[in-house]
Amino acid sequence: MISSIIENQKAKRRLSIYPSSLAESKNVSFDELLVKLDGAFVDNSLYVHIPFCERMCSFCACNTSITGDHSWEEKYLKYLSFEKESLLEQLGVSRLNVSRLVVGGGTPNFFSIKNFKKLFHILEIERDHSFDDTLIELDWRCLDQEYVDFLKDYGLSQFRLAILDTNPKVLGGIQRNSSIEIQDFLKDIDSDTFDRLNFEFLLGLPFQTEDSFTANLKLVEEYRPQAVTLNHFVKVPWIKENQRLYKESDIPGPEFVADLETQWIQELSQLGYVALGFGYWTRNQEQIIQGFQSLDISGPSFSKTPGILGLGVGSLSQFPRGFWTNHKNIPVYSRELERKNPVQDSVVLFSEDQEKKHGEFLNLLGTIEKDQIDWKSLGIPDPFTTDSTWRHFLALAMSDRLESP
Ligand code: SF4
Repeated sequence: MISSIIENQKAKRRLSIYPSSLAESKNVSFDELLVKLDGAFVDNSLYVHIPFCERMCSFCACNTSITGDHSWEEKYLKYLSFEKESLLEQLGVSRLNVSRLVVGGGTPNFFSIKNFKKLFHILEIERDHSFDDTLIELDWRCLDQEYVDFLKDYGLSQFRLAILDTNPKVLGGIQRNSSIEIQDFLKDIDSDTFDRLNFEFLLGLPFQTEDSFTANLKLVEEYRPQAVTLNHFVKVPWIKENQRLYKESDIPGPEFVADLETQWIQELSQLGYVALGFGYWTRNQEQIIQGFQSLDISGPSFSKTPGILGLGVGSLSQFPRGFWTNHKNIPVYSRELERKNPVQDSVVLFSEDQEKKHGEFLNLLGTIEKDQIDWKSLGIPDPFTTDSTWRHFLALAMSDRLESP
């Protein structure tokens, strides 16, 4: 069953569609983008990318900059400030009005509290800021209660902890060893914080076994965080050299991954979690499910804003009529910033074709098209109507087998 899906996907080569060949215009300047997306910027959902990490995890496919040099914090703040000021000028508005904030990386808590305060100042976010929704990715290995309290003070409501796996052999294999275990960290965090925690796990990591992965479920059962995110290891060694460290035999096969995922879906449901898509599960609480508005590049959104504006190196912006990424390389990003055009790739959609293309963009994260597969005949849930974690599984299965695009 699974192999037939993989073969089907392999033939379609959906990973190579970006930017879309049917887009109205590609790689337009930022000024042109703003004209074409006129009106899409009322009330902002903002994504800020902080690319720095002190050490490289060998599985990682994110846009990162590995350094122990924290003087980068100040330099990067200057870039973000410059980008924001340019945006205001180009948009012809006096302030950003951030209603939803997503901070990702890299490691956002690479920044000291002092420099994070400066970031909030740049973004015009005060203490007790009233957001519709927030999400920040945090590395728990360099996090403590003081940092968490500081973020709470500024109104941040959701902290995604990249736990990935709890098994020492798996963590050692992906070069993510730590002097403390996640359980020790969680014991030191106050219980009120658990209502804001989102545990992120990665399925299909090298050296994972059924036993090692089901231990992760026990952690969810014990601490019952507000949300759980289940993502998939995506093997892209042509982009990330660090992934060439693994032998094929180190990586669990797709059938194994599918079985584990099925087990997770069942057990998380039994624990009272509900899937909102993109591998995101939330505790079954009426107000959260009813408040859920849409899915975008950062996952489920509780904000009514129809898009998200990205700031920072490699950040991605997504609106109903178009999407773009900033340059991924810091020197190039900073050089292009001075020309007020940090955009590397952009796509503006035909207005009559918006919905289809928007779906196509989202498919990049899962790589399959609606109605492309007769899910019912395969006896598995339709990921477009049930839980789209299946899409991540397919992305994994495909990326493992596709040649470089
Ligand atoms: S997994 Fe996280 S901490 Fe590790 S290199 Fe990637 S972004 Fe940095």
